[in-house]
Amino acid sequence: MKSYEYDVLVIGAGPGGSMAARFAARNGAKVLLVEKRPEIGVPVRCAEGISRDWLETVDVKVDEKWIDANIDGAKIYSPDEKSVVELSAEKAGNEVGFVINREYFDKHLAALAVEEGAELWLKSPAIKIIKEDGKIKGAIIRKFGEEVEVRAKIIIAADGYESQVARWAGINTVLRERDIVSCIEYRMSNIDIDEKFTHFYIGSCAPGGYLWIFPKGKNEANVGIGVALNKIKEPGEVKKYLDKFIEEHPNLKKGGILQIITGAVSVCPVPKKLVDDNIMLVGDAARLIDPITGGGIANASISGRWAGEIAAKCLVNPSKECLQEYEKKVKDKWEKKHLRNWFVKEKLSELDDDTLNKLMDVISQEDISEISVRAILEAVQKKYPELIEEFEELL
Ligand SMILES: Cc1cc2nc3c(=O)[nH]c(=O)nc-3n(C[C@H](O)[C@H](O)[C@H](O)COP(=O)(O)OP(=O)(O)OC[C@H]3O[C@@H](n4cnc5c(N)ncnc54)[C@H](O)[C@@H]3O)c2cc1C
Repeated sequence: MKSYEYDVLVIGAGPGGSMAARFAARNGAKVLLVEKRPEIGVPVRCAEGISRDWLETVDVKVDEKWIDANIDGAKIYSPDEKSVVELSAEKAGNEVGFVINREYFDKHLAALAVEEGAELWLKSPAIKIIKEDGKIKGAIIRKFGEEVEVRAKIIIAADGYESQVARWAGINTVLRERDIVSCIEYRMSNIDIDEKFTHFYIGSCAPGGYLWIFPKGKNEANVGIGVALNKIKEPGEVKKYLDKFIEEHPNLKKGGILQIITGAVSVCPVPKKLVDDNIMLVGDAARLIDPITGGGIANASISGRWAGEIAAKCLVNPSKECLQEYEKKVKDKWEKKHLRNWFVKEKLSELDDDTLNKLMDVISQEDISEISVRAILEAVQKKYPELIEEFEELL
């Protein structure tokens, strides 16, 4: 078997992996980035919405090439669609952003990694981890069908939601059924929508999740739905929810479907362990998706940057203790927030449509200057204190 040697092996070239490879290489490491698919970024399995506030954090300049739509804000609709909460730029600040073209975006990030000196192998899945004396020493990669050995001082697992690398390394990132949201999305054309906003629908139209319309430009949008796995009773149910919604909305019903995608997201608190001797987890592999929004591109990119930088720093002594700096950084940023959002998600998924209609009615009428869980809860507490009892500890 052929053998190769690198400082850092990054497995998976999504946003998390490309950022990890880029920043490890920028900081002097000899980096290999392997991707199992023959092309970066396709097939796209994403609604493609991002905010703009974090791009600077990962040193990525906005490029028209990967932007499909500039978004002014978000609209959240009550189950009866009588109340709409609008999150405009003034309220949401930098949280508003773009609907991107993930294919070009992911390719752009991978190109940035290569620009810094990382080597990129396509059609090269990692199939096994190499362990010696209980320590990870690299991985077996099926490079264009040929099994080769890649030895590395540090491995970064960036292999997404279906991550196997963490499991091979003995790190538990197994999800409970209720912390998985199953998704289906149509790329639709010839529809009528307010293309300056992303649109979110909550309630029994999407149990334990939500339905979204993310504009991709004039008369085109990603129209999708996520439903909590523990709310699904039969196969094909998620698609039925989406089809029903489209059927009931003439502005969508008149459209055509150009593409169908399916996927899943984790909606859970941050796992206990994100590093071990010689290994770090980033992005979806580290379960860093926000449990309320289901967004994970930003968190994957930011965690990727930190993992890459800290990996490069720890090359002299790639021990668990040294890599712990990464785990701490991730936990400082997301542990509290994701736990709170997970709790709110759990509670919201138990509310019926009538209660949600009431909640949304209050929120849409109150002049909430800043959109935060706290501001929303306080507004609702004034009118329906009984609805807030469950959430009291968050206040
Ligand atoms: C339907 C849907 C809609 C979504 N919408 C949004 C949204 O609007 N906004 C948002 O922010 N987030 C969204 N997300 C989440 C977002 O897509 C992820 O959080 C993001 O892609 C995570 O990036 P990542 O780099 O961690 O993983 P990924 O982007 O999944 O990349 C992992 C990469 O690893 C590769 N890989 C896997 N196994 C191996 C292996 N053994 N060897 C080599 N390569 C491997 C994969 O092919 C893939 O390229 C959505 C997700 C879904 C499913």
